[in-house]
Amino acid sequence: MKKVELLIPAGDFEKLRYAFAFGADAVYAGIPLFSLRTREIGFTPDNINEAIEYTHKLGKNIYLAMNIYAHNMKVKPFLNELEKVVKMKPDGIIMTDPGLINIALKKFPNLVIHLSTQANTTNWTSVKFWRDLGVKRIILTRELSLKEITEMHEQVPDIELEAFVHGSICIAYSGRCLISNYLNHRDANQGTCTNSCRWEYKLGYDKGSLLEVENQQKPYSVENYMPPPEGFYVKEQKRVNDKFPILENEFGTYLMNSKDLCSIELIPNLIKAGVISLKAEGRTKSVYYAAMVSRAYRKAIDDYYDNKKFDSENLRDLMALSSRTYTSGFYTRNPRQYGENFEDGYSTSATHKVVGIIRNFNSQNGFTEVEVKNRISVNDEVEIITPEEKKLIKVKEIINKKGVSVEAAHGGADNVFIPLETDPGEFAFLRSEIK
Ligand code: SF4
Repeated sequence: MKKVELLIPAGDFEKLRYAFAFGADAVYAGIPLFSLRTREIGFTPDNINEAIEYTHKLGKNIYLAMNIYAHNMKVKPFLNELEKVVKMKPDGIIMTDPGLINIALKKFPNLVIHLSTQANTTNWTSVKFWRDLGVKRIILTRELSLKEITEMHEQVPDIELEAFVHGSICIAYSGRCLISNYLNHRDANQGTCTNSCRWEYKLGYDKGSLLEVENQQKPYSVENYMPPPEGFYVKEQKRVNDKFPILENEFGTYLMNSKDLCSIELIPNLIKAGVISLKAEGRTKSVYYAAMVSRAYRKAIDDYYDNKKFDSENLRDLMALSSRTYTSGFYTRNPRQYGENFEDGYSTSATHKVVGIIRNFNSQNGFTEVEVKNRISVNDEVEIITPEEKKLIKVKEIINKKGVSVEAAHGGADNVFIPLETDPGEFAFLRSEIK
């Protein structure tokens, strides 16, 4: 039986290598200027070719994102770039703009186009429309239920469906949002979103009497939403002269800050619904994130096909990553208020932190070079995490670059050397518990 594809974000070459080493079947990367993560500068038109060759040598797939909604001035440069990208022979191109998709398919009839989630495909008639146009895969919008996906697959079985299982979510339908554009002149649909939905907003009122304002306010309830009472507004902390009328409840004013998606427990349901590719978000996240998300989902997918029951250790490994806390999304119900993090706007590490990336093991002296990410001290208990195993060790010694034995090393400092009993292999991390 062909397994569902595990598709992981690759913001640069290193993330790509780690994603594959830790179990990804495919990665996606962005073409600078035309992808929706222009902050992701890891790939250039020159080194993307190298990434494609590397991927194909492993027998895996790479898809390239060119998924902006283009304004007139970008049409020509987009098509010029597309011509170059097609020659590189990626396994698919992720696109959104209907006009550009139409032209691309006329110019390159065999081009494999994956319709970006940004196109917000929410029903089977749209799936059929894109299939008839020649699109090979639909990257489903995150706001669909399993029932809706099942129906799409039943109505249009001859098109691939890809679904997000992990990573950040927009508070709006992906990218159908002008908050960042409005506040910061950076357009989500041009790849420059500043995540303004997650900023901290402060509540204020502008009537002469607080009592008068409060008396207009009805008790808060999601089901029975009331418009903001006259007088209340929020201000973004750096835009003190702009006032946005709003309603606050007891949790505070992180009004639009979606939790991150984590649907690892729904893998069997998504496969049964007809999904053939499970995708994680996060091209701008770390190498460690790419590796650990690949690892957890790889194990969960393999367990499913081996008829093993869900191993909650995979979920714990995802919980240990930095996140805005998790929601399982819309697949089984509308998450409503449980989909939002009202407490803060940042990702935080819950239980563990990565302390280092293992670089080179010297089999002659038994020391491994470590790129330090967070403070590590002699006598710390740390876990070595490889694609295959986790092993707890005690740090017996730390030697700095000058060959001097030190008590501790700090994140961002020069690489250090620690002794290990065995070679952990080319791809391994050190992680420690947050106490
Ligand atoms: S501001 Fe928030 S909701 Fe809007 S596109 Fe950016 S991440 Fe999505």
